[in-house]
Amino acid sequence: MPRFFVAGQPENGLLTLHGENAHHAGRVLRLRSGESVTLCDGKGTDFDCTIESVEKDAVVCRVQSSHPAETEPKQRLTLFMALPKGDKMDFIVQKAVELGVREIVPYLSKNCVSRPDKTEKKVERWQKIALEAAKQCGRGYLPAVGAVIPFEQAAAQAAQSETALFFYEHEKQTGLRDALADGVGETVSLLIGPEGGFAPEEAALAVDAGLKSVSLGTRILRCETAPVAALAAVLYAGGNM
Ligand code: SAH
Repeated sequence: MPRFFVAGQPENGLLTLHGENAHHAGRVLRLRSGESVTLCDGKGTDFDCTIESVEKDAVVCRVQSSHPAETEPKQRLTLFMALPKGDKMDFIVQKAVELGVREIVPYLSKNCVSRPDKTEKKVERWQKIALEAAKQCGRGYLPAVGAVIPFEQAAAQAAQSETALFFYEHEKQTGLRDALADGVGETVSLLIGPEGGFAPEEAALAVDAGLKSVSLGTRILRCETAPVAALAAVLYAGGNM
């Protein structure tokens, strides 16, 4: 069934698609009155609707029922990602959204090669990529991409989750599987480093902040591979696959 994100809540049992959404529904998909669509508020609620009328800039939909979106992971996942080089973050945002993260927080660490002065435009671009990915894969939440923050702040924020994982390329003792042997918390944060990896003092700071240092195995993964592998493994451990 066609699916659209809408801003706002139903009024008098109606929700209306405007702009690009209306164009896509009316012109591209050629939906007509009486047909069914699902509208999602991007905050976890789906509305099953029937189309009442189709105009150029307004597709009016009557809400038949509402229910929690069925496509969200059981855990609330946040990815803290060191700013990578070039446009790698585009790929990471897209894949992380497909895999179900609720939030992506880019941060700057000691070994980040890319240190742009102005990051607002980049964040805007990543937010757009997140929206497109969320639409494509049928998310019930529209994941947020946060502003770029310093490493210390990222570690402190990440430590607040019930399960707070620091993916460290030099971790030799604790594998991810052991770290999750007692289960996965309702909130999970995953902190991943840049191409250059973490400085030893950053690893110490993360552990002091309360994060668990874990390994993804004996091979060093690229910074764009690590979040995909880590998210897949956490989802699996959390009973989502
Ligand atoms: N240049 C570094 C590797 C950086 S890999 C070196 O050669 O040591 C980029 C990031 O991916 C790391 O900071 C870490 O967060 C994650 N990562 C890659 N491989 C990993 C592994 N085997 N275990 C845990 N984390 C890993």
